[in-house]
Amino acid sequence: MTASTTSTARLLIVGPQGSGKGTQGVRIADAYGIPVVSTGDIFRANIKEGTPLGKKVTAILQAGDLVSDELTGALVRDRLSQPDAVDGFLLDGYPRNAAQVAQLEGFLAEIDAALDAVILLDVPREEVFARLKVRAAEQGRADDTDAGIAHRLDIYERETAPILDAYGAKGIVDRIDGVGDLDEITERIFAALEVRGLVRAAAV
Ligand code: ADP
Repeated sequence: MTASTTSTARLLIVGPQGSGKGTQGVRIADAYGIPVVSTGDIFRANIKEGTPLGKKVTAILQAGDLVSDELTGALVRDRLSQPDAVDGFLLDGYPRNAAQVAQLEGFLAEIDAALDAVILLDVPREEVFARLKVRAAEQGRADDTDAGIAHRLDIYERETAPILDAYGAKGIVDRIDGVGDLDEITERIFAALEVRGLVRAAAV
């Protein structure tokens, strides 16, 4: 086999709402030259544009509930098959429960791929709740009401946090302290990915 200069990075960032996944996700994706695939962003863009998909999911997002696994999975599968995702991607917001973990494994098996690392942004519930209250005041996201925030955090703790056990068993989880200076947190993530031999495309 000849040495290849192309490196891939198939990453997943997991953390409670308000843990900073969005901010850190963009930084990681830029550094690795890969697209961010954020299901929440895709749903919100569709709602904004009034597409048929957007109409289907508006009430679900408003209530802070999860969109069906079928709909979400089909969307992700399609997105991951696009040319810019061939050499990697950073998933944010998917998979969010055990069924979606199994779905994703199937999609990746089809292209003979697997996740390289799962970045867990660790932030205590009280801290994320406080951050989300600030975001609600600043950005007025429709699902950032007190009840909406609490509901989404409950779903995270009940359905999403347990998916880390499955990935932990594969030895691909990097638990990152998500409290502190934004740049420092980015450095912590880069350091963990470097240990896994994942090579950044660009210096940032
Ligand atoms: P947050 O992490 O603050 O809840 P996201 O942007 O990740 O925000 O998601 C917003 C909403 O989009 C979720 O509350 C849910 O309704 C929907 N959503 C996003 N990702 C998924 C997913 N993987 N499965 C089902 N629903 C999802």
